[in-house]
Amino acid sequence: MDFCIICGRKTDELYDNMCRDCYIKNRALIEMPREVDIIMCPVCLAYRYRGKWMRGEGGVTERVKEAIGKLLLAKSNIYAKAIKDFQLQILRGGERIPEFKSATLLVKAYVLGYTDPRVGNYSNECEVIVHLKWKYCPSCLKVKIGKEEAVVQIRATGRKLSEREKERIANSLERLIGEMYQTDPEAVVLDYTEEEGGMDIKLPSKRVARVIATYLQREYLATVKETFKVVGRDKGREKTRETISVRLPNFTMGDIIEVNERHFLIKDIRGGKVYALDLARGIPITLKGNDVKRASPIAYETVPAMVISENNGYVMLMRLDDYKIVELKKEDMRIAKLKEGESVDLIVTGNRLYLVKS
Ligand SMILES: [Zn+2]
Ligand SMILES: [Zn+2]
Repeated sequence: MDFCIICGRKTDELYDNMCRDCYIKNRALIEMPREVDIIMCPVCLAYRYRGKWMRGEGGVTERVKEAIGKLLLAKSNIYAKAIKDFQLQILRGGERIPEFKSATLLVKAYVLGYTDPRVGNYSNECEVIVHLKWKYCPSCLKVKIGKEEAVVQIRATGRKLSEREKERIANSLERLIGEMYQTDPEAVVLDYTEEEGGMDIKLPSKRVARVIATYLQREYLATVKETFKVVGRDKGREKTRETISVRLPNFTMGDIIEVNERHFLIKDIRGGKVYALDLARGIPITLKGNDVKRASPIAYETVPAMVISENNGYVMLMRLDDYKIVELKKEDMRIAKLKEGESVDLIVTGNRLYLVKS
């Protein structure tokens, strides 16, 4: 008589020094990943498998299960010499599948098989989290694009977009479209071109184009106008194009705008607000979209200057372009006193002078 090295039971029937019960408990048939991602096309129900789009059979839930099964087996370590049965049961989240909503599913996998023919068949069960996402496969996207397209034209009123603005907009749109793509297969850029002083973004859907336009309106104080036309026919169906014209304000970072006879130097525009320096008072201020609705940039120049003295809020300066002496009154006495010999900038707008720290 021998005995099992795990439980100590005396038996003649040992497999790798274990009794049958202990062998089954300690020899997994399969080791599955804890989580898998499934990507499925909502139109043709093909699913992505090893870089290809595969077509299954049956209804949408069966195809999701088929995709999960294929992917799970591909990503598992299989120790079984033979698998006799493999079944999946969706424990949670399954109700979202027929609605084509992205979902996190809890799936139970049942595997029957053997690792040693003398032991015979036994089963293993594992729970796996499945992240289900819907994305158009390339062929369905092509059909979709054939029907509709939308162009978002981004320009600024009365000026060209600066390189800095273009870069910033491109970065924020990349983030926005990337986030949308998680749940919306149409959130893809078909084409991106830089036009004279602006940018054009071509998309396969009006809805996505509108989300982008609304974002730019809210974030950068743009105005939005939509135009719509039928641009042709594709396989008997009308092909339409929506053009959404997004106009950024006529001012941007570094400009001075006049609001209620006060001058503001714009430091930043984001989140629908203008962050500026109130030039007369020398303090930062936040302006809302409504405050700047009718604002336009005004011409100015920056002249280096040197502080000669400050007494009772009156600052004496020497311009370093023509060495003329100018006197300014500080509007806000809370601003720290200037030191003699300090370098500052003098902002010259038409008939007014402002002092800003260099
Ligand atoms: Zn045992
Ligand atoms: Zn498809």
